[in-house]
Amino acid sequence: MPRSMEQESLLAWFTQHQRDLPWRRLDDAWPILLSEILLQQTQVSRGVIFWQRLFERYPTVQSMAESTEEEVLFLWQGAGYYSRARRLFQLSKVVCAPSSAGGFDGDLPTSAEQLQTLPGVGPYTAAAVASIAHGEAIACVDGNVIRVMARQNGIKEPTGREVQRWADEVLWSDDPGNWNQAVMELGATICTPKSPRCDVCPVKQTCLGVEHADLYPAPKKRKKKRVDLQCVIYIDSKGRPELEMRDASGILAGMWGPKLVEHVNAEGLGYLGEVHHVLSHRDMHVKVWCGVAEKGVDPATVPLSSLDVKLLKLAGVMRD
Ligand code: SF4
Repeated sequence: MPRSMEQESLLAWFTQHQRDLPWRRLDDAWPILLSEILLQQTQVSRGVIFWQRLFERYPTVQSMAESTEEEVLFLWQGAGYYSRARRLFQLSKVVCAPSSAGGFDGDLPTSAEQLQTLPGVGPYTAAAVASIAHGEAIACVDGNVIRVMARQNGIKEPTGREVQRWADEVLWSDDPGNWNQAVMELGATICTPKSPRCDVCPVKQTCLGVEHADLYPAPKKRKKKRVDLQCVIYIDSKGRPELEMRDASGILAGMWGPKLVEHVNAEGLGYLGEVHHVLSHRDMHVKVWCGVAEKGVDPATVPLSSLDVKLLKLAGVMRD
């Protein structure tokens, strides 16, 4: 049976030591949703920069719905996992559609159940927004919660159901928003994957893993798939590359860049070298050639992924 943590001590620690993140100063659901979607796969330090950039341009869900997918992608450049940006834009459209057409008349739904019906919102994001912005008593489970649960209970490979059961059981339902953030903050700042600081942990008294935290949870072996691609960067007389918008599905959907193919006919082209880039489940190796274009585009005017920026830098058509 999962054990309970010392709730009051964890909440008191969170009140005193929580990081000063800009969305924590706001209680509106939109900036909180924006932060949760950004932080799903982006480090907090970088997430703050992207959050500020996006929230400044889109202070409301309506302002994003009135924008374009291309502009959202443009602002998302460098944050990675661009499908999140495309789904967030779709979400804004759904929220701002009239209820007669299946939308929400411009108001983000408040319950986790309804939030989960929106594009790109899974159980974690729905629970986080509903509990933090609206005080719904629902537990969040993310990677930090899984690690804290595994260590607190001394379980090497907890199942999703076990973690959820524990999270539901320990939830402080009088203040679920702060409680969820406290558990996740503990995992992000004290009970970290590599060097947990058990000596200053507010819940070490209840922790079965305290002596051997590194054993819990057992690491998952996930091998990235190697992908070998090739591309030609055609450059015009003004030094601008020829770029195209990628299809709405597949790798880097909706972003701009040189065409990525399995094989280039390199006759008459100049070989520039190879770019290595790691995506979530892929280890990308791209061989790059250059050729002559009639008319290119200014790369600063279109949304580019980090991989494309590397390719264009190799070709000398982009600088830092
Ligand atoms: S005592 Fe150590 S392992 Fe246990 S929850 Fe605290 S930081 Fe994590």
